[in-house]
Amino acid sequence: MPLEPLSIYVLVDALGWELIKDRPFLDDILTEKRSLTTILGYSSGAIPSILCGRPPSEHGHWNLFYYSPATSPFRWTRPLSRLPAPLRENRVARRLLKGVARRVSGYTGYFSLHAYPVPHLPYFDMTEKRDIYQPGGLDAPSIFDVFVRHGIRWETYSYHRHTDAQILDLAPRRARQTDARVLFLYLSGLDHYLHWNVHDREGVHAQLDWYAHGLREIWRAAQQARDDVRMVLFSDHGMTPIRWTYDLARDVRALGLRLPGDYLSAYDSTMARFWVWNDRARATLEALLADHPCGQLLSPAELDRLGVWFEDGRYYHLLFLARPGLLISPSDMGHVRFAGMHGYHPSEPTADAVLLSTIEVPKPVDHITAIQRVLLGDLGVPGSGGPDMAPTPPALGSAPGSPGRSSTTRSSHQPPALEVATPVKHT
Ligand SMILES: [Zn+2]
Repeated sequence: MPLEPLSIYVLVDALGWELIKDRPFLDDILTEKRSLTTILGYSSGAIPSILCGRPPSEHGHWNLFYYSPATSPFRWTRPLSRLPAPLRENRVARRLLKGVARRVSGYTGYFSLHAYPVPHLPYFDMTEKRDIYQPGGLDAPSIFDVFVRHGIRWETYSYHRHTDAQILDLAPRRARQTDARVLFLYLSGLDHYLHWNVHDREGVHAQLDWYAHGLREIWRAAQQARDDVRMVLFSDHGMTPIRWTYDLARDVRALGLRLPGDYLSAYDSTMARFWVWNDRARATLEALLADHPCGQLLSPAELDRLGVWFEDGRYYHLLFLARPGLLISPSDMGHVRFAGMHGYHPSEPTADAVLLSTIEVPKPVDHITAIQRVLLGDLGVPGSGGPDMAPTPPALGSAPGSPGRSSTTRSSHQPPALEVATPVKHT
């Protein structure tokens, strides 16, 4: 048997602590089981925070859309805003626009217009310009860059080329045959299921059983082929059941401010972001949002503490966060009344992520920004800490990263990809 260990790292999107805290989930294998606090925001901010070991305000990735008219890949769509709405906002036109914008931009990351109105698109650029599961995929060094720097061989499988079923099918084979040190799997299907079915107890349990079975097969296959196998499973956030919806945009429209002359808006499912262009717009919006029953206007101090404050205002000037369980609908994410949503305040219990592991995890690890250090500790990367690593900073604060040191670099390699249709991924 090969002496070289194999570490299997599995990121399961939306596997919340609430889902597994009272039920078995590979408990006989993954003996470490704990909740982790997530960041404020969606997977587009949470996953980079995991991969970089830093909060969004440090690595720069937060919402998928940020204000940047000068670099917008939708600049060329400006004349379309003069068309009647039915002509530009229908499904065919939007799909065409998305395809062209994607080609024009050259972006290879997750690319979606969601339901952003066409006249608003030229104000926005997209955060995920590259495949974030590759070296150089993020605007800050990620764990994949550390792999390269330290000559750690790895294979990664994500929705970019495979569905979850395909990943769970091929991973046992790779776990047996690979000579890589790390198998990194990103499974996004549970997130999709939970958005639609989080209220369906039996259905959710069946999904969890399916994932547990698939992961057990990978574990078994790896163990049959080698002596030293480790598995660390983690998630980016949980899923909060939706109890009611609210049309916040209607309240904002009633203020009589001019859009885009006075302000610009972006309505996500759980938060509304505003850019204000004059004092009157700011004061009027603040008066509405500071005393709104559906949520709270977050202060710059709190946003800073949550690690999502950006001095240049690219993601927002004002940020209104909905109460847990309230879905802002309709929104620029669409008109769908989802059963579950994430992106509420990180203090909400259903927002918690998980960390499950075959290896011992230091007690202070309680935030998703600490996952990277756990993984690098497992690999013995210098500076990552290991068993005596420094305590994690306050749960809702910022975390220091894990700067690796140089060493000889061997080539990492990627396995041949199966040619399949692009699977659906939600944020
Ligand atoms: Zn999601």
